[in-house]
Amino acid sequence: MPQSPANQGGVATHCPYCAFQCGVQLSGARERVVVAGNEAFPVNKGRLCIKGWTAGSVLGHPERLLTPWIRNARGVLAPSTWDEALALVATRLRETQERYGRDAVGLFGSGALTNEKGYLLGKFARVALGTSNIDYNGRFCMSSAAAASNKAFGLDRGLPFPLEDIPSAEVVLLAGGNMAETMPPFMQYLEAQRAHGGQLIVVDPRRSPTAQAGSMHLRLIPGSDTALVNGLLHVLVRDGLVDREYIASRTEGFERVKALVAGYWPERVERITGVPEAQLIQAAHLLGKARTAMILTGRGPEQQARGVDNTLAYINLALALGKVGRPFSGYGCMTGQGNGQGGREHGQKADQLPGYRKIDDPAARRHLAAVWGIREEELPGPGLSAYELLASIGQERGIRALLVVGSNMVVSAPNAREIESRLRSLDFLAVADFFLSETAALADVVLPAAQWAEEEGTMTNLEGRVILRRRAFEPPPGVRTDIEILCALAERLGKGSHFQFNEPRQVFDELRRASAGGPADYAGVTYERIAASGGLFWPCPSEDHPGTPRLFSEQFATPNGRARFHPVQHQPASETPDSDYPLYLTTGRVLAQYQSGTQTRRVPELERLAPRAIAQMHPAAARRYGLVDGDEVTLSTRRGSARFTVDLTQLIREDTVFVPFHWGGEQAVNRLTNPALDPISRMPEFKLCAVRVHASGML
Ligand code: SF4
Repeated sequence: MPQSPANQGGVATHCPYCAFQCGVQLSGARERVVVAGNEAFPVNKGRLCIKGWTAGSVLGHPERLLTPWIRNARGVLAPSTWDEALALVATRLRETQERYGRDAVGLFGSGALTNEKGYLLGKFARVALGTSNIDYNGRFCMSSAAAASNKAFGLDRGLPFPLEDIPSAEVVLLAGGNMAETMPPFMQYLEAQRAHGGQLIVVDPRRSPTAQAGSMHLRLIPGSDTALVNGLLHVLVRDGLVDREYIASRTEGFERVKALVAGYWPERVERITGVPEAQLIQAAHLLGKARTAMILTGRGPEQQARGVDNTLAYINLALALGKVGRPFSGYGCMTGQGNGQGGREHGQKADQLPGYRKIDDPAARRHLAAVWGIREEELPGPGLSAYELLASIGQERGIRALLVVGSNMVVSAPNAREIESRLRSLDFLAVADFFLSETAALADVVLPAAQWAEEEGTMTNLEGRVILRRRAFEPPPGVRTDIEILCALAERLGKGSHFQFNEPRQVFDELRRASAGGPADYAGVTYERIAASGGLFWPCPSEDHPGTPRLFSEQFATPNGRARFHPVQHQPASETPDSDYPLYLTTGRVLAQYQSGTQTRRVPELERLAPRAIAQMHPAAARRYGLVDGDEVTLSTRRGSARFTVDLTQLIREDTVFVPFHWGGEQAVNRLTNPALDPISRMPEFKLCAVRVHASGML
């Protein structure tokens, strides 16, 4: 039995929140646990943000779920035993499948789950339930960048180089990422890059704290990324600043891109993007003349209905500069969720099997069927993506029963009021979580799950570094781990022989075999090897392999080893301002809250800093509506309305309103966002839609 950190003299583990996965040192009892930065962990080097410093308070929080709950005949959630709750979940899932078919049951996972849990959830869907309908909230996070990297490089690993390369990059272009608030300890890498004389170009409609830390800010109109990047490439081609030798020897398809960007001359790009011609040329020259340069994207360009095209445009730029696979250079996606990287590798996505294999690849299916001890034909095919899965509820042949593990879609899904009403119409909803989130509050059965410091498991950070979360405490009495929950449900579904796992390490050993030979190969990663190092980078195919911090230095993961250019035209967003809805609405994050806020809204220090959702507006725009700082305002889009507190700032464009998405109910900005999906990644268009402002909070 693990002792408390106090007894052990401290436990080295990792923060429960973002993809930076800061190393932390825990000490003290659960109710008064002290979180300190772990200076020995090479990523954060002892630094934390306020979310990490205060993460201990969710462990002993008085609102934790400590017993299962079942909705009774009066429609009220009431305490139950584990036996009753698990039996009811298994019975209702089985009955739903018997009546409506296997795919009538859906599973919804999370990029917060450890690799072991994400892997087991995918196996549970395919082996215990035989449903094809499993997807996860990471679809709403970095799926566009993942799809674009796979198209261009044949492989997606958020950063295909280690963070330690960043300070040596002469120029970094960061598009649509606000790391100064989302992962502040990351800023030490950009600060070091600036201190070495480097240039930081930030692309963002807002002059965010990150943009303020840059040497140049390209304040583009929301939804105009592809035009901006095609314009940069136009200037590079025009002025002879592309790397012809690299393009000839390591890529294919440049000529079509070159022909396309000829139509993006700077004056035209200024009209589309709002970025002055002179700034565009200056940025292109900075990039084109640098010996080392990095292009990084965040959710800004990615969370759009053209998110894959946007990301491909940025990748085209990195390739034309000849920088991908070169030291201190390249293209990377700044993954957001804690295990956003590992969560997309091991099978909780609708189109994918463990090891980052494609579910429709016959060799992958053969391999997984053998590892799982089932016949190949028993393995379901691709299912519905996250939003489509939720939107199918209530439709003919749609989802009738849903098991959710660690996700709060009532706050985080686009068009959230519609999603909430669909969830209410389910025949059966079960949610495993550790607080009664807005989604758990709708459930027929709530299963109390263990938290971050209460179970062991691996996470994969934004660099592809596999790290180990250690257990500091036993889960409280009455609480079970997600692995225990899934194994117990599999037993009740008659598939227990495939789920004989007593601890996460056994799941990880099977994951290693399942991933072996795949693009994300973890075969050589062991808990012991991680513990003895600062983590191991995949691919790591054998126990004597050192791991792979840098990808693509010799060749790309495409059949012919060359990276692929993709010509991408600028296209207007699926909804743009008009006379009815005259402004852009864009969404994002603030320093003191994390994702749907299920945890951070319960931390007093964070709640004091960010107690409610604000609507950030330019003073000139606010004046037109008679609004002053601190006023209540109602924002409406074609999906609905929500209320916010006005926060005036010169740092945003006059035509744009920014609202963070961490709150539910009347403050849920995702009640307003547009569910238009990217045709490839199925990413919703969170980052922009057209909005109307109602002064005085009145409709
Ligand atoms: Fe580090 Fe992210 Fe946790 Fe902040 S939220 S302490 S940046 S892992």
